Amino acid sequence: MESTMMRFQLTLPHILERANKYYPQTEIVSRLPDKSLHRTTYRDFYRRARALAEGLTRAGLKRGDRVGTLMWNHYAHLEAYFGIPCAGGVLHTLNLRLHPSDLEYIVNDAEDRFLIVDDVLLPVLERFRDRVNFERIFVFRYSGDKSVNGKGLEDYEDLLASASGNFTYPELDEYEALGMCYTSGTTGRPRGVVYSHRSTVIHSYNCALPIANNLSPHDVVMPVVPMFHANAWGLPFACVMVGAKLVFPGPHVDGQSIVELFEKEQVTFSAGVPTVWLGVLQLLEQDSQRRRFSPNLRLVVGGSAAPEAMIRGFDKFGITVVHAWGMTETSPLATISKLKPPLDSLSEDERYAYRAKQGYPAPFVELRVVDDEGKEVPPDGKTMGEIQVRGPYVTASYYKVPPSPDKFTADGWLRTGDVATVDEHGYIRITDRTKDLIKSGGEWISSVDLENALMGHPAVAEAAVIAVPHPKWAERPLAVVVLKPGAKATPEELNKFLEGKFAKWWLPDEYVFTDSIPRTSTGKFLKSALREQYAKRKAEEMKVA
Ligand code: ADP
Repeated sequence: MESTMMRFQLTLPHILERANKYYPQTEIVSRLPDKSLHRTTYRDFYRRARALAEGLTRAGLKRGDRVGTLMWNHYAHLEAYFGIPCAGGVLHTLNLRLHPSDLEYIVNDAEDRFLIVDDVLLPVLERFRDRVNFERIFVFRYSGDKSVNGKGLEDYEDLLASASGNFTYPELDEYEALGMCYTSGTTGRPRGVVYSHRSTVIHSYNCALPIANNLSPHDVVMPVVPMFHANAWGLPFACVMVGAKLVFPGPHVDGQSIVELFEKEQVTFSAGVPTVWLGVLQLLEQDSQRRRFSPNLRLVVGGSAAPEAMIRGFDKFGITVVHAWGMTETSPLATISKLKPPLDSLSEDERYAYRAKQGYPAPFVELRVVDDEGKEVPPDGKTMGEIQVRGPYVTASYYKVPPSPDKFTADGWLRTGDVATVDEHGYIRITDRTKDLIKSGGEWISSVDLENALMGHPAVAEAAVIAVPHPKWAERPLAVVVLKPGAKATPEELNKFLEGKFAKWWLPDEYVFTDSIPRTSTGKFLKSALREQYAKRKAEEMKVA
């Protein structure tokens, strides 16, 4: 039997129109390069996003054409988030921290036709511009400079000013492409993921749900996660859908600047990778100043595992950390760790242990954890296996790459490459990425568990654990540690600290103390660089021996 419901497409213009109709006064605050604040409202954002859609259409944008953005987090990037897809184009956010050769590869692979770029990021563009083919380049004068100078560069404001205001949206199908994003390449060549209007709308609902980020028009949301990292985890779309005030930090994402904005704008919700929050926490712990944050401030932490010590640390300042897991391939919100009622009666320590897990899946994200034979592991919180997912906002392939068995199963699930356990309540706990696991004497050691435990030691600011080759055990853990300013700790002390928590053979054989751990372009610990540095050295030592 057919339903009587209307055929109504889940597309972005609806969200944009609704924002103007019901939330015109909602504010959008953006930090400019000179640290001053720019303020606007949804009403103006609506007008400008539509002007961009019209301007791009006049410039010759066709359905499905990719428009690259090379921009920080700010109001004009939000205009691009809506203006490009509402014109039928595909928003392609470029990661400004990538190596020029990666940017060149990505722009050519995606065949970006136009580009919108911040004036302050023109030097980044110059490093690969002669090896790509942008037909038109629109420069957003983010620094406040009066004019745009340079061959082939046009002023973004002129493009907007060319619009009449009489724009009609194209008839979009919900399965049409809305945006694309490349995996940041922690594991090999970047690969493109193409989102649809439908996947983005469904993801926005999930993002806003009380069991997820719990967003409402009363929220003040500050995405610290860059808008080029998996669409700032979908926050710009979800916030405009529910009318939440947005605060964009621009390039100023150091602890001090973040804390300042939290106070000044009374931020209630923020999101970013653990390395950002470790910095903020350290600042708060050293701070003598009393901070006046919103009593409702919560942070969603993802991208890599949130150490339990960090969750506990923020609680002391009345800031709630919510741990979530996802990937570029999953739009990204896949699981989130909020406690279900049966867990409320657990002891404080057990509740913290749960909050440090990655949580259970959002609606319509189907998840299974399977062993090497493809069988689901028992939900005992102990047996490890690979996480596989499927759902309406999970990619079914990579752009221009036919699905291969190492990425997709024969029955159509995405193989995440993440290793986890799952417990009786359905909460997953990620123990590693397949390639980061340490295999010692045939047994797995979780680098993530060791890192998180080490980051609970009072002297440790940051820790990353990698596998180094060993003549007898094949691999052994080596810990790279950054101590807090002025703090001291010896390898023996750190191993003593770990002893009660892990089997003896899990403890790192070696510690390296350093000033900083290299980061990926999205701010995660760059373990491949550490392996390059330390594991390679070890392999050479073994050869000599
Ligand atoms: P990249 O693969 O280039 O790092 P993504 O940002 O898409 O790009 O990263 C997704 C990966 O990040 C996941 O597959 C997982 O390994 C890791 N990750 C994301 N969130 C978490 C988390 N909460 N805990 C542990 N790992 C996480």
